[in-house]
Amino acid sequence: MTSRSFLRLVLAGAVASGAVALAAAPAGAASPGKAKAPLTVPVRLLALNDFHGNLEPPTGSSGRMVDENGKTVDAGGAAYIATHMKALTDKNTIAVAQGDLIGASPLLSAAYHDEPSVEFLGKLGLKVAAVGNHEFDEGYTELRRIMKGGCHPVDGCSPAGKWKGASFDYVGANVLFKNPNERTDALAALGAQQAQAKKLMADWGVPALPPVSVKWVNGVPIGFIGLVTQTTPNIVTAEGIKNLKFIDEVKAANVASKILKLVGVRAQVVLVHEGDQVNAGQSPDACSAVAGAGARIATQVDPEIDVVLTGHSHQAYLCKIKDPAGNDRLYSQGGSFGRVITQVDLKVNLKNLDIDRSSVVADNHVVTRTVDPDPEISTFVQTWKDRVAPVANKAIGSITAELSNTAGPSGESPLGDVIADAQLAATRTGGNAQIALMNPGGVRTSLNYPSSPAGEGDGVVTYGEAFTVQPFNNLMQVVTLTGAQLKTVLEQQFTGGPNNQAFTKILQPSANFTYTYSTSAPWGSKVSDMKIDGVPVTDTQTIRVAANNFLVGGGDAFAAFTEGTDLWSGPLDIDAFVDYLGANSPITPPATNRITVTS
Ligand SMILES: [Zn+2]
Repeated sequence: MTSRSFLRLVLAGAVASGAVALAAAPAGAASPGKAKAPLTVPVRLLALNDFHGNLEPPTGSSGRMVDENGKTVDAGGAAYIATHMKALTDKNTIAVAQGDLIGASPLLSAAYHDEPSVEFLGKLGLKVAAVGNHEFDEGYTELRRIMKGGCHPVDGCSPAGKWKGASFDYVGANVLFKNPNERTDALAALGAQQAQAKKLMADWGVPALPPVSVKWVNGVPIGFIGLVTQTTPNIVTAEGIKNLKFIDEVKAANVASKILKLVGVRAQVVLVHEGDQVNAGQSPDACSAVAGAGARIATQVDPEIDVVLTGHSHQAYLCKIKDPAGNDRLYSQGGSFGRVITQVDLKVNLKNLDIDRSSVVADNHVVTRTVDPDPEISTFVQTWKDRVAPVANKAIGSITAELSNTAGPSGESPLGDVIADAQLAATRTGGNAQIALMNPGGVRTSLNYPSSPAGEGDGVVTYGEAFTVQPFNNLMQVVTLTGAQLKTVLEQQFTGGPNNQAFTKILQPSANFTYTYSTSAPWGSKVSDMKIDGVPVTDTQTIRVAANNFLVGGGDAFAAFTEGTDLWSGPLDIDAFVDYLGANSPITPPATNRITVTS
């Protein structure tokens, strides 16, 4: 190609985008008169996933990572991420993310509805992010506020003032309105092609979020398709997403891919909040992913899609898999909590504006803390720490030893049991609760002893520590179940039933509720000998059961909870926990023997 035709292509791109100046010409572009112009331009993607508001360096195992040399190192923290990002960023770079950036976050971020984290990610230069399931933790309306700006409808403005909205694009192609008449501005970004795109989507549905985002670098457009796990309705509180449906990721990606192609965007990257597990202890650059939901998407999406960056499983891997046309395609993930940045270098062919697959090179960088923290971000985080300190550092109770969230043989954990006891205590009056059940996934971390490296070696539990355990701001609720329905709930803990439980999830029971399960009995006949306060439960008796609103809404595939009647709503789960610690300290770890297991 002559340099004249090369220039024409760059200009064509510039016209189509309406935003790209000639100054954005490719690195190494030949100066006029030089004979050889490059046929490709370089593009670098820097990707994060599952940050979960970890502005401060995460602690415990959440703050450690196996590096490329097989060494376990401390990793993560906003100021360190910023330093690493700056070092990795060049003029060809687009920063992207694969969801769960917010939600289930530390108090520092959560106390302000994660506005500090979203602001930090903007400062980091993030341009596009897929939504994760946790982006829906406070509901769709709140996600729209995070995207668009405005003060929180209940808590008002944060100490930083009116929220300006995310400075990056949140995308989610498989998030649709159930009601097709719902108004949406999701397609506005497509401009003149809106009408055609709408036609294409007639068989698809009305997107509740922008499905794609196109970013230009070096005169070429890169299309990003956002996707979130289609299991989101099972793992997010039902009320907040009641108007939404989450369709098959592959189907949505393929429609979005066609829309991108329609507007001339052939360099296509999927950002998907779904991923796979890996064999433990592997280098972040290894491909030790066990093929599951993530690999299914990465293998099956349209061959026009060149790269699949994933999230959700909090694992680090770099894989090359075959697309449906038999070509190599990158399939990667970068751990969680800001401990890994995935760097993807690729070249875009200037003739067809597509990614040259053979040029794709990826590297997972561990966000080590041996570099100097970025001063601006350090100050930013400190400002929020100062704001939240009076709340976070308040002592609320004490423990005599570690309260672990690790399940024992019965599936109970000491901390899970204590939380169930706290939830029953908070719902007896008003809700007339007789027992409580807590989902194990909602017990986010252990209460360590001594409780923090910062100070108290005396088992003092602060509000900030309690919040780390119970960060969801779920409401406590009570419903009436029959004995038979309660037994069905317990059967639904196990895989193999019609509720499609993904893996066994033993609900943490309050101390006064005991039962037995058999590991070998078939699904539906596993649970027996249910007793409340030592009295056997009959099929027909009614029981007031306390649980958080996530479970009561049928979360974690516990569909039988939705058959509950006489719904009562009480305090927040964190308040129940804090009150219980206050009234019963010091707390000694209970024996995890409420459930008996037989073969
Ligand atoms: Zn997730």
